[in-house]
Amino acid sequence: HQKSSISQRWSFFDDHLASRMKREIFLRNRLDTALENEEFRLVFHPIVRASDTAVVAFEALLRWQLDGENIAPHEFIGLAEQTGRIRQIGYWVLQKSCLEIRMLTELYGSISVCVNVSVVQFQDLSFASTIEEMIRYYGIEARFLHIEITESVFSGDKENLFFTIKHLQSLGIKVSIDDFGTGYSSLSVMQDLNVNIVKIDKSFIDKLDLNGMTIVAAVMSISANMGYKVVAEGVETAEQAEKLTKAGVHYLQGYLYERPLELHQVSGFIQKNREQMAH
Ligand code: C2E
Ligand code: MG
Ligand code: MG
Ligand code: MG
Repeated sequence: HQKSSISQRWSFFDDHLASRMKREIFLRNRLDTALENEEFRLVFHPIVRASDTAVVAFEALLRWQLDGENIAPHEFIGLAEQTGRIRQIGYWVLQKSCLEIRMLTELYGSISVCVNVSVVQFQDLSFASTIEEMIRYYGIEARFLHIEITESVFSGDKENLFFTIKHLQSLGIKVSIDDFGTGYSSLSVMQDLNVNIVKIDKSFIDKLDLNGMTIVAAVMSISANMGYKVVAEGVETAEQAEKLTKAGVHYLQGYLYERPLELHQVSGFIQKNREQMAH
């Protein structure tokens, strides 16, 4: 009796695992044709200046619509990294982001686009020269392109990492550390990496109690000394925004201001934002 229930549980576990693996195999295969089938699009999430909520940048976020279903980045980015397909997908993301930078700067002046780059792409020795060519090809100003990397880039060869970051910065591109604080070596990242921007992860912004505010204050103090600008990710309430602004955080991003926007909604958002500024 006992034995059969255990084996039942095991078979449930097997079924669960098997269906998860089936799903992964399915998605991995479909990722191979997703670009040519035009299943990807970018959405744009505003980043505002804390002092006056003027929009200063948009983060480009990848969306995959497969047979009418939206697949979340956390479900497919990892798979695309495993197969190496992320290189082509990431290249496409950069191309589309450069086009958007051109459109935004022509119409609205000084607005940046922040692009998430996978550790797999970033470790390619030719990454920075590819970006250099792209900037020339699209005729955009490098300072409007921000590259977001996570602390996971630290797992690879450090020398190449530093070289790539320096090369990008010498072009005028800004480099951000994304999801800051969630990696395994945040303080070494602070010490060793010469980035331009630190994005404090949403998990910290979610709990701005006394301890949480102490952590934010510490990040602000280190960043001030290192010359980093600080962005808070995942700001959802006015109370969070007020606390973060008081703590000196430079930029805020989150659902409080807007959800990620479709391409055609971006202009309307900027116009509305600028009208609010004028009043
Ligand atoms: P991320 O770069 O940290 O992006 C922030 C994520 O948090 C986005 O989710 C965004 O929609 C969400 N978010 C922002 N503000 C709020 C908020 O106030 N509340 C809540 N609940 N969520 C908020 P998304 O678009 O699902 O992206 C998840 C992750 O996927 C990104 O995290 C990034 O690591 C990765 N990703 C997205 N696009 C790309 C891409 O083009 N290339 C690569 N390599 N990774 C990407
Ligand atoms: Mg990001
Ligand atoms: Mg992030
Ligand atoms: Mg995050």
